[in-house]
Amino acid sequence: MPESDKKPDVSAGRSSDLRFPDLPYSNPFDDDKLHEECGVFGIYGTDDAAAHTALGLHALQHRGQESAGIVSYDGNRFNTHRNLGLVGDIFSSQAVMDSLEGDRAIGHNRYSTSGETLLRNVQPLFAEFAFGGLAIAHNGNLTNAIAVRRELVNRGSIFHTTSDSEVLIHLISTSTRNTVSDRIVDALQGVEGAYSLIAMTNDAMYGVRDPLGVRPLIIGSIDGATILTSETCALDIIGAEYVRDVEPGEMVIVDSSGVLSLKPFAVSPPRFCIFEYVYFARPDSVVGDTSVYEARKRIGAELAREAAVDADIVVPVPDSGNPAAMGYAVESGIPFELGIIRNHYVGRTFIEPSDSIRHLGVKLKHNANRAYIEGKRVILVDDSIVRGTTSTKIVEMVRAAGATEVHMRIASPPTTHSCYYGVDTPERDKLIAARLDLETLRAYVGVDSLAYISMDGLYRAMGQENRNAEVPQFCDACFSGEYPVALSDHEQGDDGAQLSLLSERV
Ligand code: SF4
Repeated sequence: MPESDKKPDVSAGRSSDLRFPDLPYSNPFDDDKLHEECGVFGIYGTDDAAAHTALGLHALQHRGQESAGIVSYDGNRFNTHRNLGLVGDIFSSQAVMDSLEGDRAIGHNRYSTSGETLLRNVQPLFAEFAFGGLAIAHNGNLTNAIAVRRELVNRGSIFHTTSDSEVLIHLISTSTRNTVSDRIVDALQGVEGAYSLIAMTNDAMYGVRDPLGVRPLIIGSIDGATILTSETCALDIIGAEYVRDVEPGEMVIVDSSGVLSLKPFAVSPPRFCIFEYVYFARPDSVVGDTSVYEARKRIGAELAREAAVDADIVVPVPDSGNPAAMGYAVESGIPFELGIIRNHYVGRTFIEPSDSIRHLGVKLKHNANRAYIEGKRVILVDDSIVRGTTSTKIVEMVRAAGATEVHMRIASPPTTHSCYYGVDTPERDKLIAARLDLETLRAYVGVDSLAYISMDGLYRAMGQENRNAEVPQFCDACFSGEYPVALSDHEQGDDGAQLSLLSERV
């Protein structure tokens, strides 16, 4: 019988002798990725402020798909529209856009875990204070928000949301400083964590990045208007130019006289989130002077050097594995093939795990391209493994399509720790790499070989000689467990509330 006619053994690679520890239940429809929680966009000085903001948020949709909002200011009043859903649906009506008058606006979109999305948490948050209106759009997470909130509540503050970002509104409002910028600085000196923040008052728009610059924030411009946003793809969509990054620990004030830069915080070595390069940021964005697409291809090439294997084709787990797989293929000389096709039209409502479609699992989203896989030794490249649920199903699917060997290569080190800096992340006991050693995980996923890029390899791909063990050049805490910003609430036992920013438990 010719080799290609043999029935594939879909259980190949799995060891029947191994007993896996009880693994927690995971929604089989979950894409098994960490999710960036927010994208922010603000513009000052154009008649089309709200329209530009809606387009910017649309470009940032990958940073949050469950709610979005815009607050504009027309010189007399603040106008707000916020809702649950995708940007294109929330801002599709002409009446809504007409209501968002003004030459300045800020917007926000966010991801949250299902069931905890509450309309009152949708940002930008807005309040009246001593200087007029105050709108805030926050990307990141405050790691002492629960402690600060308790203190504020004890002093009489009344909270309207369960979002960590609302503590900033109270701290700004109750500060005794004489200017808005001093009050923002005063408030931020009372919090810990990661923040890339845009605020808007009657007189100005403010952008601030935490002293380590964990989350991104950039400055752009178009026809004399100034933009603050998370990624360059939000500038491209409206034809704006990239000016520069807001520096870690910098505050910029944008008003009718231009852009003023302040450095109100103590200088620290920056610790930008390395996972932005691995997965979160859009591949067409340039982050910290580095093309995200290029960085991912370099990670794939490094992975090929570190973990070579003899095979016939390199197949990405789409879409996030695509650039790393290209890098792997070019470096290894093994042909790149789209051996898995992704259906882009699977909505979140449809993928709720009802019993009638539960058995379909990842097939709703992915299908093996049998013509290219059958009879082949396949190298599957993905960006990360979080719970392991999707990887297992994809490997089964590839074997069922006739692959004779399946080797998995992961473009990040094992994800062994939760993120507390603005990424929706499972608790540590649900991270499969924190529970299983490499060989057990290989057998669990059902592949013939499994390898991750090393930490030094990831840093090399980012243009560093290696990881500086004293002060790493990036935040890599979800791989290393070395958290660069204190986790005060977590240390006080408020872990669940920290990981689920919108939890009613806050
Ligand atoms: Fe990024 Fe991981 Fe650090 Fe979170 S812990 S900021 S995901 S590198």
